[in-house]
Amino acid sequence: MNWLTNFVRPKVRGVFGPKKEMPDNLWEKCPGCSAMLFKRELEDNLNVCRHCGYHLKLGPLRRLETLFDDGKYKQIEVPKVIPDPLRFRDQRRYADRLRDAQSKTGRADAIVVAEGTMGGQKVVAAVFDFAFMGGSMGMAVGEGIVTAARRAVANKASLIVLPASGGARMQEGALSLMQMPRTIIAANEVKTAGLPYIVVLTDPNTGGVTASFAMTGDIHIAEKGAQIGFAGARVIESTIRETLPPGFQRSEYLLEHGMVDIVVERKQLRDTIIRILKLLRKEKIGRLAITGPVPHGARSARRI
Ligand SMILES: [Zn+2]
Repeated sequence: MNWLTNFVRPKVRGVFGPKKEMPDNLWEKCPGCSAMLFKRELEDNLNVCRHCGYHLKLGPLRRLETLFDDGKYKQIEVPKVIPDPLRFRDQRRYADRLRDAQSKTGRADAIVVAEGTMGGQKVVAAVFDFAFMGGSMGMAVGEGIVTAARRAVANKASLIVLPASGGARMQEGALSLMQMPRTIIAANEVKTAGLPYIVVLTDPNTGGVTASFAMTGDIHIAEKGAQIGFAGARVIESTIRETLPPGFQRSEYLLEHGMVDIVVERKQLRDTIIRILKLLRKEKIGRLAITGPVPHGARSARRI
């Protein structure tokens, strides 16, 4: 409300022409090398930086598209849960936080469940959405894992879970912690049915998710550079009063220490999963042939 803003600035603008509107969502800064990456190029490269290979987060729908044959899959509806069961409030009401996350992401909660085929093999996949309250696991996410596991058993499909989560959803208190044993039991149902259960650890995975179903897979694949741990590195450092080694809690470090089986680049993920599924299912056929009765003249069936 002074003469500078009301009178001089419009005159100056008039001289230089109208201010150009530059959409700020065309570029993204790489957290690995700070290069400015053109969004469309980045998306074509599965959100991997072409300069340094840093794996940025990938949305759940795009993730499913990159995994399933021809990018085709069918979403499975997850039964609704009671929203905000404790009527929790910190600085803000949990109900408001939930509503915000829902309108931001366009989904009911932090998990998407889908089914389709990978290399012609039946697969049910559950993918976390980190953009939804840090992929935190409350009742809805627990329900998603249970739904995915039961669907896999019913359809004799393999189960693949791709968590990206900060852990349990604190706003749901003990109810969120109850999802830890609940999801482990669900994963065990898949194992009991003799079906493969594969976990793909994407960046990041901490807290109650790492401490439950995410560490009970038949095979643990980790995406390159993903942070995987229970407590945060800073908390550990201040507790033990020691400097942690470089690369601590990253996929490669966990591979060296036997916590994950394979570290893959995102581009190789689909092929790696298909290869493992083929091996696991072939192995099962082979083992059955060895332990079961061999009919006369079917000697070739013994071969794995
Ligand atoms: Zn980079």
